[in-house]
Amino acid sequence: MSDIVAPGIRRIAIPLPIRGLSIVNAYLVEGAHGWSLVDAGMHTAEAEQALRAGLAEAGIGLEDVRRVFVTHLHPDHMGMAGTLERAGAEVLMHTPEIAAARRVWSKGHDVIDASYEWFVRHGMPRDIDEGMRQAWIAMGERVDDLDHVSGVNDGEIVDLGGRATRLRWTPGHTDYHAVLIDERDGVLFSGDHVLPRITSNIGLYPASRDDPLGDFLGALSRLRDLPVKRVLPAHGDPFDDLAGRVDELLAHHAARLDATLVAAGTSERDAYAIARVLFPVLRSPHEERFALAETLAHLRHLERKGRVREIDGSPARWSVTRAYQGSVIAPVA
Ligand SMILES: [Zn+2]
Ligand SMILES: [Zn+2]
Repeated sequence: MSDIVAPGIRRIAIPLPIRGLSIVNAYLVEGAHGWSLVDAGMHTAEAEQALRAGLAEAGIGLEDVRRVFVTHLHPDHMGMAGTLERAGAEVLMHTPEIAAARRVWSKGHDVIDASYEWFVRHGMPRDIDEGMRQAWIAMGERVDDLDHVSGVNDGEIVDLGGRATRLRWTPGHTDYHAVLIDERDGVLFSGDHVLPRITSNIGLYPASRDDPLGDFLGALSRLRDLPVKRVLPAHGDPFDDLAGRVDELLAHHAARLDATLVAAGTSERDAYAIARVLFPVLRSPHEERFALAETLAHLRHLERKGRVREIDGSPARWSVTRAYQGSVIAPVA
């Protein structure tokens, strides 16, 4: 299924085999000098069929896509980029995200192994951790191998078939996630940085930048007042009010930071115990991983603000610093 969402831009809805996240949007951009795609789905048979059908609705085939820009390394965005590359497209990403992608999807699973130990250190039960590891490896099998990816730096122009868009580094969801802004027409390809109905997962991993949540909140604030009239997110429907949605996201995380302080309570707790208070219902290894990584990102941000401290150990534990104990009395919603 595809629909026109801005002049010269068609959304192709690509199905995902993920519980609770059924679709990722790929945006097909028609320029005076050819076709480009922003994000490339996760590679399953159904996804490839949906991509081919969406291109056919525009009267083109895989081989007509000249450029593919991938907003970040997640499998639902990178998945079919290699297929498009082999059909003749040039694949582009924010330069430092390329190396991160190569690490995450390396066949050696080094990043997965390091994360596995990290989650155990933060209180994740080993049986859940093993399920999480297998699910992560299965995801990697839905990401095409890529021979060559061209790097684009923060602030540089990405030419989508004659349509100039500027890359902006928007860290948080991944360390080097990037969005594209068509400044002439006020169109923002927001990837997973700004989504209309859900909040993107902000997680702390062993190789993450120091404070991903701080990065994310800063990147949101910098984006808020740009001259954007139309936001094209990777999940959910396109929308117009960027500033309004940014304000909601900032308020959401402020409330979650307060809830994290409440969940940490007055005793020393490991991050997994705190995550289970914040996320009482977890239905899959993926959800377990996202919940713990998200809780750790909030704890790290609170630590950088002097509100909690991490106590080394096995598992590591967290305690609210004395000055902030009892400072938040609202119950966890
Ligand atoms: Zn993502
Ligand atoms: Zn996504």
